[in-house]
Amino acid sequence: MAIVHELSWSTSRAATFADCRRQYYYEYYLSWRGWSVTAPQARRRAYLLKKMTRMPMLAGDIVHRAVARWFDGRHQGHVGTEDELARFAIDRLREAYKESRDGGWKRRPSKSTRLAEHHYREPRIEEATGAAATYGKGFVERIRTCIRAFFADPELEGVRESEPRDWLALEEMGTIALFDTKVFAIPDFAHRDDGEVRIWDWKTGSPSPNDRPQLAAYVLYAMEKWDVAPADVICADVYLAGGGVAEERFSRGDVDATLGRIEASMDAMRALHFDADEGEGDPEHFPMIPAGSREARRCGFCNFRELCERA
Ligand code: SF4
Repeated sequence: MAIVHELSWSTSRAATFADCRRQYYYEYYLSWRGWSVTAPQARRRAYLLKKMTRMPMLAGDIVHRAVARWFDGRHQGHVGTEDELARFAIDRLREAYKESRDGGWKRRPSKSTRLAEHHYREPRIEEATGAAATYGKGFVERIRTCIRAFFADPELEGVRESEPRDWLALEEMGTIALFDTKVFAIPDFAHRDDGEVRIWDWKTGSPSPNDRPQLAAYVLYAMEKWDVAPADVICADVYLAGGGVAEERFSRGDVDATLGRIEASMDAMRALHFDADEGEGDPEHFPMIPAGSREARRCGFCNFRELCERA
């Protein structure tokens, strides 16, 4: 089936829209179809920049894959150990780092790792000064800490002991429809527990203001997919790097407020929406963060900063 460019909604898309309209334009419009080698240069470039990651995100993604691997193993009767998982994760981190540094990513950019730290030759990744080794060791340690927490945190005992027959979702990219718009949600792990549904979100960084809205969106997802009332859904952000577990329940009023927030966010996006198959649109409709403003600090970590001449 041919893929078409359409407006969809997710917590991360909404956060990008709120943080920087220009970044939103690059990610969701200009980069569209940039995966094709025959795409116009501007689209191709935006797509390659969009596909880049940074070490904190790479390490986080690898921890998610390692935990998912543990669940897969458990489903097949093999209970993986902390050492096995840590080794798997650290090996993946090293492979991805080398793929980015040595240019291996160029063979298959859509499936490979390219770090923005390498692309922008950031001082933190300089090997000659030893900065790269220190930077990398920090993420190896973070991965070890996160995996240890997954195995040792007493608040995760219910996760580790849950039975596969009760599992509902595992890193599953799912969609529901709200206000005639596709909404994406990826619960890290969900399972039934004594008549309730528990949803877990693994975090490998610090708490963020987007964490609670993301859990609220998962409640909508659970109501639609698993036919549960909000009172019967318990969500938790698990800060594996040392921040503990933040459990949340959402009332019917919270759910209504979440729906109102999502509808307002969609309306604002829809006002700027255009069909990216019909053209590249006008970037001026998607303003950059003003240079020199407090908010412009995020430009220093933005994949697209060369397009905004903020590199
Ligand atoms: S470099 Fe700054 S202004 Fe440009 S897209 Fe990124 S965050 Fe927005």
